[in-house]
Amino acid sequence: MQYSNPDKQTIQQWDRDFVWHPFTQHSVWNAGEPLVIVEGEGEFVVDADGRRYIDGISSMWCNVHGHRHPVINAAIKQQLDRVAHTTLLGLTHPPAATLAKRLVEIAPPGLAKVFYSDDGSTAVEVAVKMAYAYWHHRGRPGRRKFLALRNAYHGDTIGAVSVGCVDIFHSTFRPLLFEAMFAPSPYCYRCELGCDRSTCNLACAAAFEQILERNADDLAAVVVEPLMQCAGGMIAAPPGYLRRVREACDRCGVLLIVDEIATGFGRTGRMFACQHEDVSPDLMCIGKGLTNGYLPLSVTLATQEIYDAFLGGIDELKTFFHGHTFTGNPLGCAAALATLEVFESERLIESLGAKINLFNERLDRLAMSPHVGDVRRCGMLAGIELVAEKASRREFPYEMQVGAKVCMAARGHGLIIRPLGNTLVLFPPLCISPKNMERMFDAVEAAIKEVVPAIAGAEKLS
Ligand code: PMP
Repeated sequence: MQYSNPDKQTIQQWDRDFVWHPFTQHSVWNAGEPLVIVEGEGEFVVDADGRRYIDGISSMWCNVHGHRHPVINAAIKQQLDRVAHTTLLGLTHPPAATLAKRLVEIAPPGLAKVFYSDDGSTAVEVAVKMAYAYWHHRGRPGRRKFLALRNAYHGDTIGAVSVGCVDIFHSTFRPLLFEAMFAPSPYCYRCELGCDRSTCNLACAAAFEQILERNADDLAAVVVEPLMQCAGGMIAAPPGYLRRVREACDRCGVLLIVDEIATGFGRTGRMFACQHEDVSPDLMCIGKGLTNGYLPLSVTLATQEIYDAFLGGIDELKTFFHGHTFTGNPLGCAAALATLEVFESERLIESLGAKINLFNERLDRLAMSPHVGDVRRCGMLAGIELVAEKASRREFPYEMQVGAKVCMAARGHGLIIRPLGNTLVLFPPLCISPKNMERMFDAVEAAIKEVVPAIAGAEKLS
């Protein structure tokens, strides 16, 4: 059969001929040679030539316990021998019911119900629709706006884009979106309020509170990424910020949606980021690491109070009329149950401390590099912002693609990472060994040295 076992060159050709990649400018992609990944093992991915790379982005922020984990592989195979897919519309099945119970047990207090969907964007879409419909059913249809943060990223479906605020990604679509308000991003290195962290007294939280208080009667919910705005540039909020958001929502009677899609499942050192500040949201979105990144599955957790607002007679039309073909897919739920089992059997969260210390030591060293302007971090997540000039914090122009070039150079040192503009993102699987963590940082340091000084020199001359 001409389609079985095509060689690397054929795959690359078919890719260029037929695939439209996400977040990819194809005029650049088609001129390059796509890296073909054929295998994964633990914290490594392997290319078609047998070269091994540390998966420094956890295969798009998903993988926690490593690739080809025996427990998760076995759970999926077992489920496959029973049924691969059956629906949650009008039926139920053991993995969906069991996983819902497990998730409620480990979630922040107050979250009582699990609504399944397919990916992070749809989990946010569900949360936004639930919040809106909640007020509708409670007789307050005027509460229909959302407050989010600048630099927020919550996914790519239209509802998720409406509460997002990354201009490069979102500005084209503005006319299609529903109305949302945006408060300052807690981006201390480039504070939009012009404050300095040592004296600001969380002025960004005060600005958020003001917007919330002024608009409370029109607001359905606040949506935030807890502790770290990830896709907007790995922006770490100062300690106490999230708690202030929760308290302000409580004062104003506005729902709080916490988007833990990137930060959930141990990335920040706790199972969920909002647990660092003892925050319980009204709605919480999780995905990515939920299945160890094996299968597309996500969840929106809701409080009993929100769930109860949707109860009523059939004719009252309070039913949540929303669901996808693959809502609660059994293979995905089986993978998620196994993922949670590994968290428990390996006592992963409890054992992360030493690894996070090493992560921080190496980040401190990177922060000393001449073109590293800012290192932002939380648990095992980090953003390394490269600058043209450290003293003035001058940025490299976007079109110089400094981040992208450093990431390409890192491949030569056996590391896969991706940038967000001028910021390098480190998002390794939590299972990474200390030795490979060191290798990851060695590769980052080498790639920065190879690429950045030359570009900085050219930038100065231009
Ligand atoms: N929310 C956050 C915080 C994310 O980081 C992402 C994806 N990077 C999403 C939502 C969207 O998730 P997905 O790509 O699975 O739709």
